[in-house]
Amino acid sequence: MSAPEISIEATGLTKVYGPLTAIDEVSFEVEKGEVLGFLGPNGAGKSTTMRILCGLVRATSGSASVGGISVVEHPEKVKRLVGYMPEHNPLPEELRVVEYLRYRARLKGMETREGHHRAEEVMELCDLHRKARRQIIGSLSKGFRQRVGIADALLTHPEVVIMDEPTIGLDPHQTKIIRDLINNRRGQMTFVLSSHILPEVELCCDRLLIINQGRIVAKGTSESLRQEYIPAQVFRVKVRGDIEELTKVLREIDSEMEVSALLEKDKEGFHDISVKTLDRSITGEQLLTAILKRDSWRVREITEVQASLEEIFLAATKRSWEETLSRKPVYSDHLRSTKMNTIE
Ligand code: ADP
Repeated sequence: MSAPEISIEATGLTKVYGPLTAIDEVSFEVEKGEVLGFLGPNGAGKSTTMRILCGLVRATSGSASVGGISVVEHPEKVKRLVGYMPEHNPLPEELRVVEYLRYRARLKGMETREGHHRAEEVMELCDLHRKARRQIIGSLSKGFRQRVGIADALLTHPEVVIMDEPTIGLDPHQTKIIRDLINNRRGQMTFVLSSHILPEVELCCDRLLIINQGRIVAKGTSESLRQEYIPAQVFRVKVRGDIEELTKVLREIDSEMEVSALLEKDKEGFHDISVKTLDRSITGEQLLTAILKRDSWRVREITEVQASLEEIFLAATKRSWEETLSRKPVYSDHLRSTKMNTIE
């Protein structure tokens, strides 16, 4: 099997603003066609990293390339390869959607005829081609404005699309439209998007990069991050039977298993119990087989409880703090808050 083609490569990217290190030795790769999510609280360094990759901000040190072209040496070439949607996209309120996209195409160096053609194509892709095309941008809803931003980012057929908080402030319906847009291009374009909305990132992205205080604290698929940071496996079981006896039976599978009843019994005598084990090879089927050995016991439901991304984020940042604190003394007034502003 041939090695995957690398679309973005960042090595030791660091950006210093006066006394502040906005990003610190950030290194990662993105394969062609992959959707990578940057996850982190406000101020973590997501936008700075994205702006460096787009050739809009110069890194203090480190290197990055897009499509094999160095961002530092050829920022103008890189700008043509990358479609960028900034978090606060200033749109001219008085222009119509179609006028704006044609204008942007001209700014991006396209001939009039090509620009008009591409504007039509991206309006269709972003579902702006019907009524919305003639609407004044100032009268558009937030969801439509985001779509105009994405249409703009797609104008030049970019190899890479970088979107800073593309779903911020959108309702679930509008968010789904953006997600579908990404899904329809998955595998054809490389996407990097940032968000602090955890379930959103998980739904959209093939791989995640968790950033906190300018540093990458974890990277991987949501599944691999779960395994790395949340060692325990938890099952919920709705069962009728004596809890003490049940615990004994389950501990025959794993002597360390933690069993706890979550709620009072329901009218039919069923308990909701939580079964926690550090042995990730244990399956729901094994629990079921063990419980059903007793004729009088009944099971209504077994579900594996997935750790949320929020738990992963907190575990990853906690571990990174512990590692930092064990390396060098840090004074508390130097520490920025790791709290996520909005977790939806
Ligand atoms: P995020 O996108 O994760 O919210 P940013 O990359 O915007 O984070 O910011 C990272 C840090 O760098 C923040 O502390 C921010 O205030 C600082 N920062 C970003 N841009 C500038 C700038 N132009 N001048 C000074 N500080 C900046």
